[in-house]
Amino acid sequence: MAAVTEDLFKNVISHAKEYGYVFPSSEIYDGLSSVYDYGQYGVELKKNIREYWWRAMVQMHENIVGLDASIFMHPTTWKASGHVDAFSDPLIDNKDSNKRYRADVLIEDHMAKIEEKINKEVEKAAKRFEKFDAQVFKTTNARVLEYQAKIDEIEARFKTALETDNLAEVKQIIVDLEIVCTVSGTRNWTDVRQFNLMFNTQLGSVSEESSTIYLRPETAQGIFVNYLNVQKTGRMKLPFGIAQTGKAFRNEIVARQFIFRMREFEQMEMQFFVAPGDDMKYYEEWKTKRMAWHNSIGLGANKYRFHDHIKLAHYAKAACDIEFQFPFGFKELEGIHARGNFDLSQHELFSGKKLQYFDPERNESYVPCVVETSVGLDRLFLSILSTAYTEEKLEDGSIRTALNLPAFLAPIKAAILPLVKKDGLPEVAKKLMNELKYDHMVQYDEKDTVGKRYRRQDAIGTPYCITIDHDTLTDNAVTIRSRDTMTQVRIPLTEVNEYLRLRTSMTEVLKTL
Ligand code: ATP
Repeated sequence: MAAVTEDLFKNVISHAKEYGYVFPSSEIYDGLSSVYDYGQYGVELKKNIREYWWRAMVQMHENIVGLDASIFMHPTTWKASGHVDAFSDPLIDNKDSNKRYRADVLIEDHMAKIEEKINKEVEKAAKRFEKFDAQVFKTTNARVLEYQAKIDEIEARFKTALETDNLAEVKQIIVDLEIVCTVSGTRNWTDVRQFNLMFNTQLGSVSEESSTIYLRPETAQGIFVNYLNVQKTGRMKLPFGIAQTGKAFRNEIVARQFIFRMREFEQMEMQFFVAPGDDMKYYEEWKTKRMAWHNSIGLGANKYRFHDHIKLAHYAKAACDIEFQFPFGFKELEGIHARGNFDLSQHELFSGKKLQYFDPERNESYVPCVVETSVGLDRLFLSILSTAYTEEKLEDGSIRTALNLPAFLAPIKAAILPLVKKDGLPEVAKKLMNELKYDHMVQYDEKDTVGKRYRRQDAIGTPYCITIDHDTLTDNAVTIRSRDTMTQVRIPLTEVNEYLRLRTSMTEVLKTL
């Protein structure tokens, strides 16, 4: 990570803490590694993102319904799903620093560094030539081709190693690429081992093996085991989807990068059940729909890209990630997978219960196939927060720190500010607040100068500040100042509610989908 972006990311993290967005968990006891709490504004932003996902998935689709399954599930669920045997990450330790890494991440980071070199060559050439076509340059420039060949070679080797579960070869790749530990700077590595990521605990008071249960590492299995309940009671016809949001837990080896990789996090998943043979059509459809949803948030289309998986799970037909340009580079934000009928078939096998669908058109029963969309709520939160964070030098030389959050997601839509704490202005301001609060999250603030209050609201990410001044008492109008443009308009008190609705409503954004 370049020094400038690294500093910027540090500033985002401290801003998140200072302004009540994200706190380290149990901080008075020095925190708990990779566990975080959401503060008074964080919880609002998170709730709004969750609601936007839910409305786009459930409310806007007649054939998608919701579910709220428990975190604890029958332990056989995780045998059937393959998590007990295979939900693990390859880990490797540096013997000098004792620092633990994910072997796959070390290799992927190495490839990303080579990709950075390609981007630098492209940038340099773009400055040199007036007429420049990056695509043509990438396919003709000798140095770029050499870099690309290196990436392709590593990728092919890594893919084969993963597909054959050849951990010795994974280590050999790390050795051959001369990857060093960032702490010790040495290449003194242990062998690569698999490490299961599920947390377990005991049900009741008996500590026999049979009472061991897991904290779910994904929400999806709660959907699969309820598939027939929902299909029957909701009289659902294929294709249909079940959506769920909720906590998931993974004992991540390398938990870092703030809320990007946590041990307790929240997922928003939708499993779409389709007839066999239709899955690739719906896989493509959901790729398009999910990308459109991300773009509608308004962070910029260039911030997202698709990335096909190098290694497919043995049952999967296709899988890709939607990656986002975080401050530390492009990383996975959402996974979209065509899972075949693996999950339901496994649950049939392990439970001995039929999980089939009778298709009246085909006049046959079958186990449906599944297309899954799975996004991390905390990662979405980070993508939005880190993009919104700006430091801007104003004409008077001062620095204005603002969160340019999309207005429909902002925790507080408007702050109501009486110009002074006297002359009846607070009464008018409070009356306005009491009218607006039924439709909007609003906040009253009368402390300090108006200028200071504007800055405070900028830092929280409040898109509008409404000022009540002495003229208000006679003209029944207020000044509304925009966070993004810092311009002001004067409008009648009676129009404030509609003004805010048009500019901050989630419904208006949903209509663009
Ligand atoms: P990664 O490769 O980054 O570990 P994954 O491929 O294991 O992620 P999935 O199992 O596909 O992730 O989970 C779906 C989504 O859940 C991810 O796209 C991500 O947004 C989120 N997610 C997964 N693990 C974590 C975590 N430890 N902390 C926060 N979010 C996570």
